[in-house]
Amino acid sequence: MPLKIGVIGTGMIGEDHIRRLTQVLSGAEVVAVTDVDAARAKVVAARIGARQHESGEALIADANVEAVVIASWGRTHSAYVLAALDAEKPIFCEKPLATSVEDCLAIVKAEAALGRRLVQVGFMRRFDASYMAMQRLVAEGRIGAPLMFHSVHRNVSVPASYIPAMILDDTCVHDIDISRWLLADEVAAVTVKSARRNSKGRPDLADPTLVLLEMAQGGLVDIEISVQIGYGYDIRGEVVGETGTVTLATGQPVDLRSAGAVSGHVPEDWRERFIGAYDEEFRHWLTAAAAGGATGPSCWDGYAATLVTTAAARSRASGKTQAIALVQKPALYA
Ligand code: NAP
Repeated sequence: MPLKIGVIGTGMIGEDHIRRLTQVLSGAEVVAVTDVDAARAKVVAARIGARQHESGEALIADANVEAVVIASWGRTHSAYVLAALDAEKPIFCEKPLATSVEDCLAIVKAEAALGRRLVQVGFMRRFDASYMAMQRLVAEGRIGAPLMFHSVHRNVSVPASYIPAMILDDTCVHDIDISRWLLADEVAAVTVKSARRNSKGRPDLADPTLVLLEMAQGGLVDIEISVQIGYGYDIRGEVVGETGTVTLATGQPVDLRSAGAVSGHVPEDWRERFIGAYDEEFRHWLTAAAAGGATGPSCWDGYAATLVTTAAARSRASGKTQAIALVQKPALYA
């Protein structure tokens, strides 16, 4: 029997996850959808034969919905996660888990009180083949102890709904999570600097931004965030160890050498670059959710990442380095 899923948010990624659940993966049936834009949800519901709900809360309460995918705007996530936890339904929540530390902690507390994991957070880079190979080599000690990680995150452009705070809490949150995962360490301090502003982009965005993470065991991470780079969606990474380095594959199948030049393809957006990772994270989620649980990136990971993005926002405002202290980790996430 396929798992009956309700999807909250039928925007760009909500639509893509619905395509994945209905056309790519097996074991899933999307039975309900909702979006604040009711007209958009109506079109999607009609196309896949799902029920349209007037709100996320109504969708979560639908007895026919066995598991919930939250793909709405980041600032709406926490209320839906808490409601779905209350209903004890498995949840896939797109990143960020929540945009405030308080909301993340409320979710961590609610899940820990249940005593079992129900939430997987959409940090899909952990399911990308190249990041996975990088993590494995680092964990095996193939480059000695990891000392530094250089991370580059460039987007072609951002939609009008993208507000300045999202540079840190919606975009950089991916790089923060992957840094914690690759280096198997927590962030102890963060410093943010804005570069000379990209004059081709929106005047309200401090773009590009440089974020420096000081890890608890002494490693350093530098993250470049450029959200209006124009030329393509470009994700790069290199871990520098004591005896070697590991560099992320750039994702293109071939280099073209012609007419005295080398050229290759740069992905258009995150859908193209991480298509395999999104499929894989959902395969894992479906298996765990069908068994009534969750796997992969947890609420604790969502909390740890948002703790850093909120400290990063303070650093950007004050110009000063911000120290970071996690609360005690509940045994559920050990
Ligand atoms: P989007 O296209 O703007 O979609 C967000 C959707 O949620 C829109 O349809 C929006 O409607 C709707 N929405 C807003 N408030 C809602 C509410 N209270 N209840 C139900 N629906 C609501 O944005 P997106 O790019 O798909 O991003 C959605 C989420 O996915 C964000 O958290 C984003 O960070 C995440 N995301 C993750 C990745 C990844 O790589 N893992 C990539 C892209 C996006 P309106 O347009 O009418 O406001």
